Amino acid sequence: MSVEAHRCNAKDCNGHVVFDNADFDFNNFDTSDKGFYMFDDPCCNKCGKKYYVVPHYIVIDVKDYDCGEFEELESACITEVDRNL
Ligand SMILES: [Zn+2]
Repeated sequence: MSVEAHRCNAKDCNGHVVFDNADFDFNNFDTSDKGFYMFDDPCCNKCGKKYYVVPHYIVIDVKDYDCGEFEELESACITEVDRNL
């Protein structure tokens, strides 16, 4: 069980968006009221603004699978790719 807190981005609000990520099911996402996949839809504890906790991906180079060691690749701009071709 792990409780996470994030700072609310509403103007002049110093509240936090707090949720427990223990119940997140990576094999069975919920669907938000806007139709995209999400884990949870917590609200700010001060102003009540609603947020969404959504799945996200990264690109990794696996160094040592058994030790869970990996390096996340830096993202690049697509114009950089075009210049290299
Ligand atoms: Zn807030």
